[in-house]
Amino acid sequence: MKVVLASSNSGKLEELRALLEPAGLDVVSQDAYGVEQPEETGLTFVENALIKARAACAATGLPALADDSGVVVDALGGAPGVRSARYGGAGASDADNVARLLEALAGVDAPRRGAAFVCAIVYLGRADDPCPIVCEGIWRGRILDGPRGDGGFGYDPVFFVETLRRTAAELTRAEKNAVSHRGQALARLLERLAG
Ligand code: IMP
Repeated sequence: MKVVLASSNSGKLEELRALLEPAGLDVVSQDAYGVEQPEETGLTFVENALIKARAACAATGLPALADDSGVVVDALGGAPGVRSARYGGAGASDADNVARLLEALAGVDAPRRGAAFVCAIVYLGRADDPCPIVCEGIWRGRILDGPRGDGGFGYDPVFFVETLRRTAAELTRAEKNAVSHRGQALARLLERLAG
């Protein structure tokens, strides 16, 4: 069965395609259908994933998958949250976002720098599907006061994982996928699709 991915990220497409093929799903890019990127007006990751999936369903008539993710920082009341990609301003780079986060946490000591990466993935059968499959993953860590490691992307270099004693940017891709917010959400999605 064909499922459209509500994202233009080719890395995500390849990752999901490989994972979902054994479940009998043929994941195709929304770019092939000219889906317009909807405005992400939700206050939660789940809402934004639903908005993206619904727009893709409506434009293609196919079931859709969408994800939304970001980092929530305890000492900042959950910011940057759904604004993670643009925390450093419109068109911000990963380095701009990290710089803004470190600035916001200046003077906050290590025990109070707890944070989590959060990922919501939804599967919507059709635009007015009242029963979407909603899967979440939460990965706890702590924000360091400077970057470490050069793998990954986004906030990875300042996200320290206590159990592994490394930042997310110091993990291999496989190590990160095995424990990350996205890895957890995807594993749950696979279980739900199989069941
Ligand atoms: P999106 O859901 O792919 O749009 O990601 C939103 C933003 O959250 C990204 O631009 C990153 O800044 C941040 N983010 C999400 N997942 C990760 C991750 O695994 N590592 C680092 N940053 C992440």
